[in-house]
This record gives sequence, C-alpha cells and structure tokens, in this order.
Amino acid sequence: MTTGIRRRRNVKIVATLGPASDTKEMIRALFIAGADVFRLNMSHGSHAEIGVRHAIIRELEVELNRPIGILADLQGPKLRCGEFANGPEMLVEGRPFRFDLDTTPGDDTRVCLPHPEIFKALEVGSTLLVNDGKIRMSVTECGDDFALTKIEVGGEISNRKGVNVPDVVLPLAALSSKDRADLEFVCSLGVEWLGLSFVQRPSDVEEARHLASGRAKIISKIEKPAAVDAFEDILAVSDGIMVARGDLGVELPVHALPPIQKRLIMACRRVGKPVIVATQMMESMISSPVPTRAEVSDVAQAIYDGADAVMLSAESAAGDYPIEAVTTMNNVAEEVEKDVMYREGINASYTPSRQGVADAITVAAREVAETTDVKAIVCFTQSGTTAQLAARERPRVPIIALTPMVGTARRLALVWGLHCVVITEVDRFKMAVVGAAKAAKEYGFANEDDMIVVTAGVPFNTPGTTNILRVAPVNEKLIYGNDLD
Ligand code: PEP
Repeated sequence: MTTGIRRRRNVKIVATLGPASDTKEMIRALFIAGADVFRLNMSHGSHAEIGVRHAIIRELEVELNRPIGILADLQGPKLRCGEFANGPEMLVEGRPFRFDLDTTPGDDTRVCLPHPEIFKALEVGSTLLVNDGKIRMSVTECGDDFALTKIEVGGEISNRKGVNVPDVVLPLAALSSKDRADLEFVCSLGVEWLGLSFVQRPSDVEEARHLASGRAKIISKIEKPAAVDAFEDILAVSDGIMVARGDLGVELPVHALPPIQKRLIMACRRVGKPVIVATQMMESMISSPVPTRAEVSDVAQAIYDGADAVMLSAESAAGDYPIEAVTTMNNVAEEVEKDVMYREGINASYTPSRQGVADAITVAAREVAETTDVKAIVCFTQSGTTAQLAARERPRVPIIALTPMVGTARRLALVWGLHCVVITEVDRFKMAVVGAAKAAKEYGFANEDDMIVVTAGVPFNTPGTTNILRVAPVNEKLIYGNDLD
C-alpha cells in the first residue's frame, strides 16, 4: 500500500474511460499521471464492461490508498433519425427534406424520425440540426406526424445520425428507459456522481434525484439553450454542473460558448457547487502526443477562471495517447496555478458568503490563510458540506478534508483544492487537531515547525455543525503539551 500521493494543483482532472483505457495498468497509470475522477460514459460500453471498470477503480483505490471519484454519465434522450435504403445520402442546400414516422428506409427526400412527441413541439421556422450540427434545416410545414424542412446547409446524412432541435423545449422525459436502467445499475455498483444529459428544466434534475434516492449526487450537463436560459433554477436543484461544450456547441453558435462557460463557472463558484469544463479540451491528442497551443490555452482559461475540474473525453477513452493527455493537463494546471495572475484572478472573482456559522468559520479560515503563514486548512467533514464551503473560498493554501465517510471522500475528489483522507471517527477536538497535524505532515503539506488551520464541528459526527477554528502547530508536542485527554 502506498501513502502520500498528492496533487500539486487545485483544479481536478476527470478522465473518461473507454477501450483505450480499460485495463488495470492503464487506469493506474492515468491515476498516477493525475486523474482524480474517472468518468464512465453510459453511451458506450455494456453493463458488464462498465462493471469491470468500476471494480478496477475500487481495487486501485485500496492499492493506492486514496479515494477516487466515479462519475457515471447517462446518455440522455438523444434524438436519432432512422436508416437509409442506399447508404449515406447527400442533402443539397435549398431542397426540401421530410421527417416522418414511416419506418420505410429513407432516401435524399425523407427519413423516419421515430419521436412523435417532437413533431408536436415543432413550429414553422424551428431549426433542425443533423450530424453534430453539420446539416441545418428550417421547418416550413409540420403536423402531428411529420415535418417538412428546407435544407439551409447541406451535407451527408446516414443511418441513425443525431438530430438536435435547439430552439424548442422538447416534451421529452429527462431520462429514457435506457437511462433509468443505467442509473439503477450504476447506483447498485456505487458511484458518487451521476451526469444528467440534455437537462432542460429543474424538474429533470428532480426526477433523477428521486430515482437515485440519495445513492449518488447529480451533475447537470448544460448542453441545451433552454438549460442556459433556466440556469440559475437548474443550478439551485443540482449538486454540480458540467459545461458540456460538445452538444452545447451544436445547439448554439460556437462563438456563444466562451461567455457562457465563464458565466456558468462564476455562478457555480458563488454557490460552492463543483463545475466541470468538458469536451475537446485536448482533442488533437486523440491522435497526437502533443496538444495544439490553442488547446493548452483553453485548459488554462478554465483553470484561471477557477473551475473545479477539467475533463478528457475521447482523449483518454479512445485516443492513442491517454496518459500523455492526463500528464499534459496536469502540467498545464501546475504551471497556471504558479502564476501570480492566477491568484490575482481567483481573488478578484471571489464573492464572500455570509449565511451562517459554518460559512463564517470557513471565511475566517481563508482570512487566517491570507494573513499568516499557515501551510494548510484542515477541515473535518461528514456530509462534505464543510469541505465544499472551504473550497468555495478558493484559499491560497491547500485544503485537507478529513472524513470518516468513504463516500464523502470519493465525492469530494471532484472538488477544487480538496485533498481527501478517510479517517477513523474522532470524538474529541484535541484528537482531531492531532489527526489534522498528522495528515498535513504525512502528505507533505506541512513540516514539523509549521502551523495549520483546523476547522471542525463539536459535537463530532453530527453533520452541519462546523463551529470551531483553531490555528495549531503541526508539532504534536506543542499542540496541547501533555494534556491530550
Ligand atoms: C458534451 O456534449 O460536451 C458532453 C460532455 O456530453 P457527451 O460526451 O455525452 O456527448
């Protein structure tokens, strides 16, 4: 068993697993290179394959003695067209094209769109996008079982290509029957986070929460314009957010993405909920051992803005250079976070929160870290709330989250700046301070002659009671002298 693995950065790295990364050796290598959370993409892979990846992560957790988070990303109600009689068809700009419910294979004039509820929601003038937005059509006529469109931008269409309807709130259930089966499966395995795709409204999140019934927290993926419009309400009922730039960049013009990404990161930071920036961050590394300079800048920008996590998709799941992609992200993060401009930017975009005792204690811990030479903030947390409050403060020094709950530690692996350690339950503040000093030393955050800040709640083991702050020496002998009762 190894001890002492720690990161030298605050931002976390989420790596998607897939065919390029489904062996134990590769997952171990990705973790050591810097992956803090592994994403199981339910759009790809059978339950058996997902189960194997899950089991490997849990084995590695024991071997490497560090909690690892798992995010199961549900596919969501993706719309797809039917099949074509003669293979791919070229759709030509200016011509009409029809979608209907007839399952007869299509041609260059029509195809089946087996989603009757969509036709009812469309209006003349609505936009339909096919094949990742490459083909654009506008609806000229529609009824209960068809939509006639004019092709605005042509291109190739083929079997089961994805269809997006950006400007309509679709009357679709948040979770398809596949999503429900997947949700049940991953919750029975045990995952910390569920990624909910194509969220359109707060009730979508509430439905997933009801089905998860406390077994996993919900990350709402923002990939529909409707979700951007209803963002504050969706954020209020979500546990975290993913800026899912892939589909969002299909449904909105790509130039709309940067300001939305910034706004979403800031809103999440304000309320202390984790936010992941996802998709195409190191896209060229699918087939190249080095990223483009623009990709490096993109990752850096998300880190400068204070996002909790940056994510790799196909780069780690199906690319030729999964380890290099994680290593590069890690290196970019370490470099950015050393820059004085990083700290200045984080401080400038910080909003204080003054809502209660736990807030006041964590704000005070940040203040102590700003004005003294303490080396770390150590917080005791049960549900994870106190640690998230500490992370919300984006302090200058590392935060060590000590918890007796392994599920909490795994979940917090996604959160900015938190180094999570599972401990046996403590019931006296004196022992907590000693334990905090020991953890700070063991993981190399502080030396014997340093000071740390400790926050905790007394009585112990009662969620939501953070009410004590102590600035303590790391040297055990100096903490309470011989008075350790
Ligand atoms: C995205 O669209 O950016 C995304 C992360 O979702 P998925 O990979 O499931 O398409």
